[in-house]
Amino acid sequence: MLNNEEFRAYAHEMVDWIADYLAQVEKFPVKSKVAPGDIYEKIPYSPPHESEDMDDIMRDFEKVVLPGITHWQSPRFFAYFPANSSYPSILAEMLTAAIGAQCMVWETSPAAAELEEKMMEWLKELMALPKHFHGVIQDTASTASLVAILTAREKATGHQINEKGFSNQVFRVYCSAETHSSIEKAVKIAGFGSENLVKVKTNKLLQMEVDALRDAIGKDIKDKKIPLCVVGTLGTTGTVAIDPLQEIAGVCQEKNLWFHVDGAYAGPVLALPETREMAKGLELADSFVFNPHKWLFTNFDCSAYFVKDKEALIRTFEIHPEYLKTKSDKKVNNYRDWGIQLGRRFRALKLWFVLRNFGVDGIQATLRRHIELAAIIEKKIQEHPKFEMVVPRSLNLLAFKYVPELNMDGEELNSLNEKILHQVNKTGRLYLTHTKVFGTYALRFVIAQTYVQAKHVDEAWEEIVEVAQSLD
Ligand SMILES: *Cc1c(COP(=O)(O)O)cnc(C)c1O
Repeated sequence: MLNNEEFRAYAHEMVDWIADYLAQVEKFPVKSKVAPGDIYEKIPYSPPHESEDMDDIMRDFEKVVLPGITHWQSPRFFAYFPANSSYPSILAEMLTAAIGAQCMVWETSPAAAELEEKMMEWLKELMALPKHFHGVIQDTASTASLVAILTAREKATGHQINEKGFSNQVFRVYCSAETHSSIEKAVKIAGFGSENLVKVKTNKLLQMEVDALRDAIGKDIKDKKIPLCVVGTLGTTGTVAIDPLQEIAGVCQEKNLWFHVDGAYAGPVLALPETREMAKGLELADSFVFNPHKWLFTNFDCSAYFVKDKEALIRTFEIHPEYLKTKSDKKVNNYRDWGIQLGRRFRALKLWFVLRNFGVDGIQATLRRHIELAAIIEKKIQEHPKFEMVVPRSLNLLAFKYVPELNMDGEELNSLNEKILHQVNKTGRLYLTHTKVFGTYALRFVIAQTYVQAKHVDEAWEEIVEVAQSLD
């Protein structure tokens, strides 16, 4: 087993491996090519009885594990939304692993609690978020949205459901048809039943239609159901559509409903003053989540959750067994009471490293570069006689299709574009995913990887054109 001296030697080697990997990551096939079971078959039935040498373990990491990795840090990764890292973030993660602190309460590492408090303030300033928000780091946006819905439930019932359980109430939660699936999961876990999630229809730009929201709420009140919460999205997963937050906030105020805003992916764009118009109404939200682990260059996991009524949040989650009581409880933030987990990683450290090493200027320049690169490809799509945008570009997401002949029917076009997607991904030179917009299959191109440059995007576009032309 490794001793400290050997650890030092291997750690030095490992850092070289990491730097080499990141220098060359763009040369790997972006999407892993293994078939189901390939990796599993290569791993022995039983753990070894005797200590194995680090050289052997590392050799198998390269031989067995690496081929089964999809390279999320490749600047040729344009699929889903990114799970970005960055050099300063990786360095902080190394320290976090070394310290290995469990940050459940202030006393178990005061620096973790206080750095977290300050980083949430820094994010508020960076993104001009409402001053009255209180922030806490959650593991994922899924968890943060569940926390929001549970807090809404408890606040609306005077914390009765936590104590006594349900008594026949039918709570209703509203979102758009484009809302992320994590909201449906949260509604299920909160005990409302997924049929009580009302998916309000959207307009042509895939934004929630507020008149339809109003109608749905009115009908539920007539039927003696209890409207509880509306979820608006700042940047939907399919196409980065921005719901009309201000109008939704108006409805929520009028009906006294909790307003949660899911900005998991696009939230960080509010670091750019020129985009802040789209977040008008956010100051009226009860809660807001976005993921620094998507578009703010911070390793997974790190989700920033903001809430207006901190007391309601804490009352929903706090628990006071004897062994967790400490002398400082009244003076500090014990973040175990701000969410679901008891045990917590020290996640604020990587955020601190990223915000300091990028600086506000570096963050703004990177976000702007991503949006500009997307605008360049948008222009190429529009100018190409056989490609079309399926919806207008939103920030740095492009949803488009190949249309070789004008009179092709919808199904034929969908299957051709699906074929293009699979063929493009098979080349290994880039990775795209797809979405459907009112039944139309769209290639989905997200330009948001931390270190992506013009050449990666240009080469990706050329590859797409070539594959499409070879298939029509
Ligand atoms: C990615 C995403 C989520 C889920 O994020 P996790 O942190 O993986 O839970 C939720 N909402 C939107 C809009 C997303 O894009």
